Amino acid sequence: MAKAVEKPVIVWFRKDLRLDDNHALHEACALGKPVIPIYIREPESSGNGPLGAAQAWWLHHSLEALDRSLQKHHSKLVLLSGNALDVLHALIKSTGAETVLWNRRYDPPGIAIDTRIKHELERQAVQAQSFAGQLLHEPSKLKTGAGTPYRVYTPFWRALEGSGEPPHPLEAPKKIAFPRHWPQSESLASWKLLPAKPNWASAFDEVWTPGEDAALEKLADFVDDRLSGYKKDRDFPSVTATSMLSPHLALGEISPARIWDATRGLSKRVSPDDLVHFRKELAWREFCYHLLFHFPKLPYANWNDRFDGFEWHNNKAHFDAWTRGLTGYPIVDAGMRQLWRHGIMHNRVRMITGSFLIKDLMIDWRRGEKWFRDTLVDADPASNAANWQWVAGSGADASPFFRIFNPVLQGEKFDPDGAYVREFIPELAKLDTKYIHRPFDAPAAVLEKAGIILGDTYPKPIVDHAAARDRALKAYNAIKDAA
Ligand code: FAD
Repeated sequence: MAKAVEKPVIVWFRKDLRLDDNHALHEACALGKPVIPIYIREPESSGNGPLGAAQAWWLHHSLEALDRSLQKHHSKLVLLSGNALDVLHALIKSTGAETVLWNRRYDPPGIAIDTRIKHELERQAVQAQSFAGQLLHEPSKLKTGAGTPYRVYTPFWRALEGSGEPPHPLEAPKKIAFPRHWPQSESLASWKLLPAKPNWASAFDEVWTPGEDAALEKLADFVDDRLSGYKKDRDFPSVTATSMLSPHLALGEISPARIWDATRGLSKRVSPDDLVHFRKELAWREFCYHLLFHFPKLPYANWNDRFDGFEWHNNKAHFDAWTRGLTGYPIVDAGMRQLWRHGIMHNRVRMITGSFLIKDLMIDWRRGEKWFRDTLVDADPASNAANWQWVAGSGADASPFFRIFNPVLQGEKFDPDGAYVREFIPELAKLDTKYIHRPFDAPAAVLEKAGIILGDTYPKPIVDHAAARDRALKAYNAIKDAA
């Protein structure tokens, strides 16, 4: 008698493009049935909809990498596009699958879609099960003593620390059973995720290798070479002192549990200061998701609605100068050009460029958030929005508005020899270190020697910082005492 064909299990990959510590995949393999791994390119309204242009570049390479890993198991990634529920319906019909598994996402549109899909599939007697994995702790579970969400980071961190060690990560499956018949996959090239003409991402691979293998390697290098000294060095943009894991985390090529696990048992060679500081940064990511989960409007509405009355200027020429790294303030311009060239910006410089946009130029933080979303390879709905609101002063536990970064002093403090500026602004490369963060103060002879003509080869400042600061504080005072 012919053996009955086993009903396959669908594993729906989303922002978890990895085999390691993947709870949905692990469960599918444990069921011992053929597994159909899929990725759905959803329409814009969903959490997995078209990403910003830089992250789309990353997604292309990440999907290729995941497919390669699956092929080692004689499996593969099936690419489909459309409304996720319709895609799943059609796939269930054509394959006879009775189970769909996925790891949870926590962006509000994604949650809404998943809830509906789960309900619909269960109504049709298809088992739909979701798993944790994108975060260390479920954002719905950590609450204050009063049962409300946390609004302040420090007590959130204490609660996170006090809630026990995150679970140990799961190893990648040894065997992934494959179906006898594969459903038709779309071609990755047809999704046109890569820029063509011009190819503005041509320098991305100077610094990035997307994919799970590269992420795990980077984690190991960081723990071996850079975790020690992390707290002291992490603020200096010319030094590679941080983990550089954020784009891998953003698309789930590595899990936070895997990262946390790599920092266990190191107390003999890494100081508690470095270790705790690094874990606290991972906890900031958790906090951002906690905020997004409990305040779904975070990416577009002021957390503190007093800021609704703030008088933004939104000068187009200023915004364009900021995006192109032509403000006349070298540390700001270097950051914006790093973003354009490599799809990333150092955390300290994100704070400086953000402060400059919001406070010196008085441009709405939402325009900065949107620009970062389109140009960062690590763009993340929670971390981007929460950090922009933090810089603006409109967010939960935010930096106060009156804390206005002076771009010259910040540059001199965190890029003292100007190495970062010289790397990203070649036209300033020969400038004397004394003036590298304030070329506008340099004597004519110094500029001439460095081959700089201010207003021609490099711009004069588009605003005077001291005057801009006063203007911003005045605007802030106007809303400060509002109810
Ligand atoms: P490490 O210093 O090695 O830290 C390890 C991990 O901790 C990071 O990969 C990241 O997941 C997390 N982390 C560190 N700092 C923060 C932080 N301030 N907030 C939340 N998580 C943090 N991070 C993003 O991942 N995506 C974004 O879209 C994003 N937008 C930002 C926008 C602004 C205006 C600012 C000020 C910060 C933003 N950040 C964002 C946070 C931070 O700049 C990056 O996470 C960090 O630079 C990533 O480098 P790393 O992986 O080497 O970090």
